[in-house]
Amino acid sequence: MKISEVGGERAVIELIKELAGPKSGIGDDCAVIEPHKRKTVVTADLLVEGVHFRADWATYYEIGAKAAAVNLSDIAAMGGDPSHTFISAALPDTEFDDLRELVRGMCETFTRYGSVIAGGDTTASKSGLVINITQTGYCDKPVLRSGAEVGDYVMVTGPLGASRAGLELLARFGRKKAEEISPRCVKAHITPTPKIAEGLFLAKSGVVTAMMDISDGLASDAKRICEESGVGMEIYPEKLPISDCLREAAGYLGLSEEKIALAGGEDYELLFTTPKPEEVAEVAVVIGRVVEGSEPLTVTGGEKTKPTGTWTHF
Ligand SMILES: [Mg+2]
Repeated sequence: MKISEVGGERAVIELIKELAGPKSGIGDDCAVIEPHKRKTVVTADLLVEGVHFRADWATYYEIGAKAAAVNLSDIAAMGGDPSHTFISAALPDTEFDDLRELVRGMCETFTRYGSVIAGGDTTASKSGLVINITQTGYCDKPVLRSGAEVGDYVMVTGPLGASRAGLELLARFGRKKAEEISPRCVKAHITPTPKIAEGLFLAKSGVVTAMMDISDGLASDAKRICEESGVGMEIYPEKLPISDCLREAAGYLGLSEEKIALAGGEDYELLFTTPKPEEVAEVAVVIGRVVEGSEPLTVTGGEKTKPTGTWTHF
C-alpha cells in the first residue's frame, strides 16, 4: 500500500514514533534536551535519492542504516558520543512497507549507538526521496581539523578503499554478481560502520591534534586537514592499510589497490594527526607525516607527487 493509502503524514509520524522506541521525544512542538556537563557537537546531512544512494542496489533498510551511519561517523570524527537524532524527510508516495524498512534501518542504527530519536518533520515530495538528519553528540574536548602541527604523524583507523571498490563492483556488475566477487567490499559500501568507539578513545587519549572521518577519500580529506591546519602532509602509499577484500576486487576492476585506497571515498575510517603515535597504536596505523606546506603529497621512493584521480559524487 502507498503512503497516501495508509493515512499520509500522520501514518508516517506514527511509524517513526513506534520505531524510535519509548525514549524518543517525538510528539511535542519541540524536543527538550537537558543541559549536560559536556560540550555538544551537532552535524546535519542531506541525502538525496539518486545522488547519495541508489534504491536499486540497496534495500530500504540498508539505505536507512547507511544514512544513520554517515551522520554518526561525523560525531565519531569529533570524538563525540551520539546523543540525539532529528530525522526529516520529503517522501514521494512510495510503498508504506518500503518506508517502514527505511525508518527501521535508521532507528536501529541510531539506537545501537545510544542516540535518542528526538524529533523531525515529514512532507510529501513530488520527485525522489530526500532525507535530512541532524545529529548531536557529547564531547569532553572535541577534536577539530585545525590542530595538526609540523612533525606530527598522520594515522588512519582502518583499511581504505573497500567501499569504493564495492561501489565500482555494484556499478559494473549489479548487486548479485558484485556480492559473488567480494561480499565484504559490497558490505563496506552499503552498510558502513561509524567508528564511534575509536573516536572516543582517540579524543580521550589527549594526544590527537586534528581529526576527521574519511568520506570523500583519503587524498581529498587529508587536504581538508592541511587547509584547516595550515600545513602540508607526506603520505606513504606503501603504508596504506589495504583490506583483503580490496585485493580481491581490484583485479576485477582493473584498478590499482593503491589508487582505490587513496582516492576512494566512504570508508568512514578516522584520519588524524598526533605527535605520539605509540599511544594510539592499538586503533590506528601511521601512513604519513605532517610537514610544512599546504597540501598532501604522496611520497614513493623519494619522489613526491600530488595524489590524482580523486573522485567526487557522480
Ligand atoms: Mg565528515
